[in-house]
Amino acid sequence: MAKILKPARMERCTGCGLCELVASRIAKEKHSYSDSFVQIRKTASGQPFFKAVVDYGQKTDYPEVRDVCPENCFDIVEE
Ligand code: SF4
Repeated sequence: MAKILKPARMERCTGCGLCELVASRIAKEKHSYSDSFVQIRKTASGQPFFKAVVDYGQKTDYPEVRDVCPENCFDIVEE
């Protein structure tokens, strides 16, 4: 079974964007919000205020992305 980065506690997310930048640095060797396999989006209304859209068409189980989140929003799990 493959391991994936899973947004597990997005109710804690502040929208800081650190996960997007680390994901693009690891996967694309650049700091880019738009060219990252993690995209943080505002939700339409109510809580949680943000959601994470993860591109599972590529490797995502980087502990660096999980660990950079100051709110501990991510887990790495077996799908
Ligand atoms: S690093 Fe954590 S708090 Fe910051 S945008 Fe990503 S999920 Fe949200």
